[in-house]
Amino acid sequence: MGDFIWPQRSLVTGTSHAGQGLIPPEDFARLTFLNGTGCRQCALPLETDLGEVSLCGACAAKPPKWQAARAALQYDDAARKPILDLKRAGRRDGLATFATWMALAGRDVLETADLIVPVPLHYRRLTTRGFNQSGWLAQALARHTGRAVAVDALRRHRPTISQGGLSARARHSNVRGAFQVRPSRAAEVEGAHIVLVDDVYTTGATLTACTRALKKGKAASVSVLVLARVVRPGDVTI
Ligand SMILES: [Zn+2]
Repeated sequence: MGDFIWPQRSLVTGTSHAGQGLIPPEDFARLTFLNGTGCRQCALPLETDLGEVSLCGACAAKPPKWQAARAALQYDDAARKPILDLKRAGRRDGLATFATWMALAGRDVLETADLIVPVPLHYRRLTTRGFNQSGWLAQALARHTGRAVAVDALRRHRPTISQGGLSARARHSNVRGAFQVRPSRAAEVEGAHIVLVDDVYTTGATLTACTRALKKGKAASVSVLVLARVVRPGDVTI
């Protein structure tokens, strides 16, 4: 099925290649794997990685709402193509690979996880697009790890404008209060250690709003796990 729709095209560059596998070695080498390193609370790469106690200046000054954040990849020119294929074109054949990378990056937070929850789309956008790429990542991660997943645990109860092109401050106010725990999932969220999944961590605004909603729903803890982390939000619009 995957081969039928996407015949052996590289996930990274989109060019055809003869070999087996989604990512030819030369493309793979261009990806920057963070693999769960960097700041323990926001996954920002650090010049000196101190392992378990690594913390960036921003998190030291103002800790995020969540307990920990892990990222598989750095979001850069090499990572852009596979992520936009997933996000905009709904290309699914990379999901198992992405889930493997995310499981590695988030192995410590997944160890204690009760429930994997993706960042939701507003139903109107879901209707137009037909899929939620973060939901797909959460499901792939659940398949890979055997952990429970609830793709509809959070809902976006008011539509928000696209975060692309907004400043960090505007992004936060755009999504503040936009999410809530779906009442039918309240019992699963209450007291649960949750791993919140998204495709890309840009400023953390959406993830912060989702964490607030899960905590309001009495989650025991929330950790963030993303496929890719934007290192300099000013450089990127996604
Ligand atoms: Zn940090």
